[in-house]
Amino acid sequence: MQEHFDIRDNQNFQDTDRDFENALRPLTFGSFSGQEKIVENLKIFVSAARMRGESLDHVLLHGPPGLGKTTLSSIIANELGVGFKVTSGPVLDKPGDLAGILTSLERNDVLFIDEIHRLSPIVEEYLYSAMEDFRIDILIDKGPSARSIQIDLNPFTLVGATTRSGLLTSPLRARFGINMHLEYYDIDTLTQIVLRSADILQIACERNAAEEIASRSRGTPRVANALLRRVRDFAQVKGNGRIDKAISTYALEALNIDRYGLDEIDHKILLTIMDKFNGGPVGISTIATAVGDDAGTIEEVYEPFLIKEGFLKRTPRGREVTELAYRHFDRKPFNRQETLF
Ligand code: ADP
Repeated sequence: MQEHFDIRDNQNFQDTDRDFENALRPLTFGSFSGQEKIVENLKIFVSAARMRGESLDHVLLHGPPGLGKTTLSSIIANELGVGFKVTSGPVLDKPGDLAGILTSLERNDVLFIDEIHRLSPIVEEYLYSAMEDFRIDILIDKGPSARSIQIDLNPFTLVGATTRSGLLTSPLRARFGINMHLEYYDIDTLTQIVLRSADILQIACERNAAEEIASRSRGTPRVANALLRRVRDFAQVKGNGRIDKAISTYALEALNIDRYGLDEIDHKILLTIMDKFNGGPVGISTIATAVGDDAGTIEEVYEPFLIKEGFLKRTPRGREVTELAYRHFDRKPFNRQETLF
């Protein structure tokens, strides 16, 4: 069986990045900033489960990458005072892998499955009875001597995380009693996160510099923490080690970080709509083909931020870029009226 801690195996994640993320991961609801509604509700569900001495209902967390799904799930385990195991959809490729991890869970433990939309259908089928009845049927032997044995499991909580909730099958989705969507963070909350991380890493960081980093972080704590680390390098080499507004602006410009934190794919989406489709409206699958990405990923991972920031509009006839997008790229909108004459 493969090891189950490598939750980022598909994201080309370096060990140092993982260590860094782990060091900054809040451990309690109190140190988790933002997502107030979700945290408020989870606190109640966790307290109620603790009072009853039962396992918490299964939880589905969905939303774009880097918003705190893994963090929240470890906080849930911590606040429940139970053990925490981590795995991911693509790692669990055989029912035996799942059985191994399920049978190792102790009473009321939390099992976190990242990228749960990538479970193979056969493993997913096994998960149904595990989630519902805390029981699995395992097939042993092959051919005529094949037989199935039933194994009782300790009650546990499955926390599933996905960036692509649209890809979840309805039987799986129906088995989660608690279903929560994480939103992008506002600049104030990200500023608090940057200041907290700077404190943990013992970096002197001024508030307006933290705001500058936060405003270019695409609403995402993972990006904010990564930028903090890069800006620290500039502060050490080009400055006196202290992160102030001047060094953060210098570093972010040098790193080519967009004023709004838009990344390469965001740029590609917006520029494709402007250049190839006269600013839209254009359908999502056409955009996806032109950009060379998957329509669902664009719809669930990239588009929400572009809409939230006002660069893109959803219309009944498709997606359209806005004035702001044209201004951002220093371009003039294509004048549709003129082409009629
Ligand atoms: P996801 O699982 O959604 O991809 P993670 O939980 O791995 O995201 O979070 C990425 C990083 O961002 C972690 O290092 C974590 O410390 C930080 N982070 C995420 N959400 C918050 C938050 N609300 N407050 C503080 N730090 C956060």
